Amino acid sequence: MFDRKTILLDLYARLYKAFGPRHWWPGDSRFEIAVGAILTQNTAWRNVTRAITNLKAKNLLSPYALHHVPVQDLSTVIKPAGYYNIKAQRLKHFIRFLFEESDGDLNELLGEDLDSLRERLLSVNGIGPETADSILLYAGNKPTFVVDAYTRRILFRHNLIPEEGPYDELQSFFMDCLEPDPNMFNEFHALLVYLGHTYCLRKEPKCAECPAKGWNEE
Ligand code: SF4
Repeated sequence: MFDRKTILLDLYARLYKAFGPRHWWPGDSRFEIAVGAILTQNTAWRNVTRAITNLKAKNLLSPYALHHVPVQDLSTVIKPAGYYNIKAQRLKHFIRFLFEESDGDLNELLGEDLDSLRERLLSVNGIGPETADSILLYAGNKPTFVVDAYTRRILFRHNLIPEEGPYDELQSFFMDCLEPDPNMFNEFHALLVYLGHTYCLRKEPKCAECPAKGWNEE
């Protein structure tokens, strides 16, 4: 019987060997990554890219600009990301938080202690655990594991977790046994997302060709 750490490291090694480094999360700055983490809720990344391109074209991709732009105008600019009225509100909530906490300085905010900052981020309307952890890990380089629907699907299909279950439980599945290494957490999450996109599809997974075929089987 393998222990959990062994099987997770085995999966990581298989995926890294098969796919190589994913260079995720794309973004020219920490702030762009944080904005992308909010825009990507319930939409494909290509739509986020279009919304971010629009923000850049309108010179809105900065804390100050987003703080001052009217929310209706922001909705129009980020329309390609879908749910644009809700996401404009969520961006505004995040920016208000950023100014209240650190006068709009994201580097200062991300310099704070992980647990305390995570808790406060989760209190922001529209920021759930996946978004908070994405900001903390990818923009903040902090050792918190991001889990998502792909992660859940892959582990469930390998009989490691129940199909439903709280986010924190799934996150603990990784964090309780892996070293708190932000670079590894970054790469592991990105590899799982890529596996979910390419092989572990929602319908008709391609198990026969998948690099995770036979994983965690003795
Ligand atoms: S595609 Fe099949 S082998 Fe690959 S991760 Fe999904 S369930 Fe496992």
